[in-house]
Amino acid sequence: HAGAHHVDGAHARSTLAPNYHPLPVTVASGEGSWVTDTDGRRYLDLLSAYSALNFGHRHPALVAAAHAQLDRLTLTSRAFDHDLLHPFADRLAALVGPLVAGEPMVLPMNTGAEAVETAIKAARKWGYDVKGVPDGQARIVVVDGNFHGRTTTIVSFSSDPEARDGFGPYTPGFVRVPYGDAAALAAALDERTVAVLLEPVQGEQGVVVPPPDYLPAVRAACTAADVLLVADEIQSGLGRTGTTLACEVWGVRPDLVTLGKALGGGVVPVSAVVGRADVLGVLTAGTHGSTFGGNPLACAVGLAVVDLLESGEPQARARELGTWMGGRLDALVRDGLLARVRRIGLWAGLDVQPGLPGGPTSGRDLCERLLARGVLAKDTHGSTIRIAPPLTITQDDLDLALDHLTDALRGT
Ligand code: PLP
Repeated sequence: HAGAHHVDGAHARSTLAPNYHPLPVTVASGEGSWVTDTDGRRYLDLLSAYSALNFGHRHPALVAAAHAQLDRLTLTSRAFDHDLLHPFADRLAALVGPLVAGEPMVLPMNTGAEAVETAIKAARKWGYDVKGVPDGQARIVVVDGNFHGRTTTIVSFSSDPEARDGFGPYTPGFVRVPYGDAAALAAALDERTVAVLLEPVQGEQGVVVPPPDYLPAVRAACTAADVLLVADEIQSGLGRTGTTLACEVWGVRPDLVTLGKALGGGVVPVSAVVGRADVLGVLTAGTHGSTFGGNPLACAVGLAVVDLLESGEPQARARELGTWMGGRLDALVRDGLLARVRRIGLWAGLDVQPGLPGGPTSGRDLCERLLARGVLAKDTHGSTIRIAPPLTITQDDLDLALDHLTDALRGT
């Protein structure tokens, strides 16, 4: 069967490593909020590739930028500059700089986990070079329920046994405290602590939004203890919460912010650390790098993404549609069809109602019911599903998806 295409989505035997359990659908094309499978069935995408598709599938401006760049230059490595590298850094710094503390600098990478690793390295080196932490003793405070990626160091400080177990020996130098408890976090900071690393809204944990006073109190504790606040906005950033950064919602300016996912517009992997020049500046030549980080194709698409966000339109749509979606989701809770809803901007975590007659038995069951009705969503942590439509979705399409959600919950 050489050359046979795998189109049925379910294979007894496969050459593909089993590190995912996808829903049984094989997507062949996409446009805007819609994808089409290999049998020609259409689905509304309510996952948006975990918010990498904030601007929808194949946004015309992003595809045009990629096409134009493919015809010109795709890679130099960082051994040589190319003509979009500094423009990308300047434009991203102009967009995000006012939202972070101090003079901004941009360090481009590719994936989210790489951006987080970069922030960890910068914070540690800053700790040794600037704060005066004794060599090898830097500590970073993280929170329960975190998700920052899949590298050996990052899974070392995960509280999720599935993500962590079996991958030791673990990287030392991390201390975990409860999420949402600023007093516990403040108490964990000491003279060896170089950074607090957290997601302002925990996406993988099920869109967990902190209490209103949490992030301001964390910011104050970090400032008081000369500790860097590193906000991982790889999933929460770039429009999803109705603001450019989620941190803006609470008026908090982190020292460093990690960006990824939507920064590449769903076209190419692009990530970056943006933040204080006196911190990122410690990563001098030879101490850190990436063959593909800041490549011409990534910068071309990234610049087009910055253009979209500079207009403020995606953020405004997330606010408006999000408020309206929240109204519909709250009604599902009032009607007893959902146990709980957490929402910020156009981003929601829904907990299924246990024991609902005819209702879904798990998040996975709900996602399979939605799939059968032509809606794509993904479960997380057993009983939760996440709703993160493209910010470009029309109200009619979102309305349709929420009608299907209501039917899927009722089992009708
Ligand atoms: N950080 C956060 C908050 C994320 O949600 C993710 C991905 O889900 C990552 C980091 C890791 O990004 P990547 O999968 O691109 O390495």
